[in-house]
Order: sequence, then structure tokens, then C-alpha cells
Amino acid sequence: MLLQIKNLSVSYKVPIGKVKILDNINLDIDKGEIVGIVGESGSGKSTLGHSIIKLNPPNAIYDTGEIIFDGKDILKLREEEFRKIRGAGIFMVFQNPLNSLNPVKTIRLQLLEALKVKQERDEKRIDDKEAEEIIINTVRDVRLPDPKEIIKKYPHQLSGGQIQRVVIAMALLLRPKLLIADEPTSALDVTIQAQVVKLFKQLRDEEGTSIIFISHDISLVYAIADRLVVLYAGRLMEDGKIENVIKTPLHPYTQGLISSVPTITKKEGELKAIEGNPPSFLILPSGCKFNPRCPKVMGICKEKEPQVIEKDGRKVRCWLYE
Ligand code: ATP
Ligand code: MG
Repeated sequence: MLLQIKNLSVSYKVPIGKVKILDNINLDIDKGEIVGIVGESGSGKSTLGHSIIKLNPPNAIYDTGEIIFDGKDILKLREEEFRKIRGAGIFMVFQNPLNSLNPVKTIRLQLLEALKVKQERDEKRIDDKEAEEIIINTVRDVRLPDPKEIIKKYPHQLSGGQIQRVVIAMALLLRPKLLIADEPTSALDVTIQAQVVKLFKQLRDEEGTSIIFISHDISLVYAIADRLVVLYAGRLMEDGKIENVIKTPLHPYTQGLISSVPTITKKEGELKAIEGNPPSFLILPSGCKFNPRCPKVMGICKEKEPQVIEKDGRKVRCWLYE
């Protein structure tokens, strides 16, 4: 097991007090496993990603929980100890990829630094010419045009889509044990998206990298992930092998998410989006947080929140299965 998240709850401090976002998240990730995390906007996907790499905004608070990475609880490590893990151990492609780059260094320098971290980990030395070749090839792999020119530039001279690809190149050079990719291809067109999916799978196959792939786009997640985790209002609603979850989603929320994706259901004309909107974290409904929107709602759903239960190697948080 590479990563074990146990009972993780995270809140944000706001002017009116404290708002709990992540509620008792339990999640295990094996070496070499690609886990897709989906959920509507505001469900807590980025908060979960940031919490794992301890790069939350300053007003975030870890309420409870353990995050065991490679046998160590990273929440108990001192910052300088954790700094060694960040980068070579865990790397995150942020939803805003500019946050992963240094504005005053050229792309070339930043990619060389990423490569150096990896080489140091492997205790390998390569000459400058070889290093330059590796970074040029990686920049070409992520389909950036004119690699030799583009690496001379500074981040602000690139477009959003180009920056996204530079940060993906950085991840490929670093080859971390755990890669957290938060909407990594949102600014890229579909052919480049497919290439990134291929490169991430290759990284997993060659290096045994575990990947947390966060996305709105279930069909994209379906193309890459081994497992699917569904978040709603900061809660884990479902977790299972992707084939199983897509074919027979257990939670009505997952059923709703999937039936609104034409490329998966292949039933044109029958698409239905889930009605209503996710609740505000300030006024969460009692009982199951999805109950006001749930087509299968029962009396108990409005009174008591169901726990996550395990059923045939899958996890689901729903009264239908208790
Ligand atoms: P998206 O799909 O839009 O990226 P998400 O699933 O990544 O959404 P988060 O960014 O984790 O969601 O946000 C979860 C909730 O936490 C939202 O209600 C958001 O408004 C709130 N939130 C995020 N960052 C902060 C912060 N620094 N302070 C207060 N609230 C925050
Ligand atoms: Mg997000």
C-alpha cells in the first residue's frame, strides 16, 4: 500500500467560523494504481489533493485523520522532513498549473531541476547534453510545438494549455511515486488529452507510479483509471473498480453522473442530468447529503447519514445497501 488516508476531515476557517469540507475520508491507494476522483464542482476534489501534499490554502485545518505515505504519517512529519517527500515522492499538477511553476525561472531551468531531482534519487549522473536531450524529448512527448524555443521562455509567456503541458512534462521527468493530477488536461484538446492519458499510463507501467486523477470528465477518467472514487459534499459516496462502478453504479448519485455521459451510456436521447445543485457546506441537509436530489430517497435518508459500507469489494454510502 503506497497511500492510506484514514478518517481525514479538513475544514476551512472563514469569517463566520469554520466550515467542514472533507468528512471522514478513507482511501487506500496501491503502488501503480490509477484512481480517478470525480464529483461536481465544489465537492472537495482539490481540497483532498492539496491535503495529501500538504499544500492547502493557509486557512485550511486538518481536523482529524492520518495520511500514511510509504509507511509514514505525513501529517506528523516536520516541514523539512516532508519537503524531501514533496517532489520526488509526491508531485501535484495543480488545477491552476501556474501554481506549479516558478515565475522567474525559464521553463528549461525548471525542467532540468525536475530531471535532477529524479537523477539524484537514482544516484545517477548524466552530462548536460544528455539532460538537454531528455527534456527536449519530454517536451515533444507532451506535444508542445517547437520544443527548443519554448523551453527558453518564462511561464508568463505561455498560454494556459502550454503551461499545463509544461507541468505534465515536469511530472514525467520527476517520475514521482505518487502523482496527483487535478484536472490536468482541462485546457487541452481531445487529441492531446489522449496523448497525456497514454503518457501517464506509460509512467505507471515503467515506474510503478500511483496516480490520483481528478476530473469532471467521467469518460476521460474511464480511459485512464483502474478505480473510481465519487465525492459528494466532501463525502466519499462510492469507491470501486472502474469497470464495476461504470457498469453497475451503486449510489444513485453515481448513477446520475454516469447516465449524463453519452459516450459511456451510448444511449443518445436518454441523457438526463441530475436535477438541482449540490448543497452549500454552510447549510448541509440532515441525513444523507444527497437526499434532496435523490430519485430513490426514503424516509431514513432525511434523518440519518448512512456510513460507508463495503459490499463485494466495493464501497458505498447509501441506505439502499444497509
Ligand atoms: P472544482 O471541480 O470546481 O475544482 P472541487 O471539487 O475541486 O471543485 P474544492 O476546490 O475542493 O472543490 O472546494 C470544496 C469547497 O471548499 C467549495 O465549497 C469551496 O468553495 C470551498 N473552499 C475551497 N477553498 C477554500 C478556501 N481557501 N477557503 C474557504 N473555502 C474554500
Ligand atoms: Mg478543484
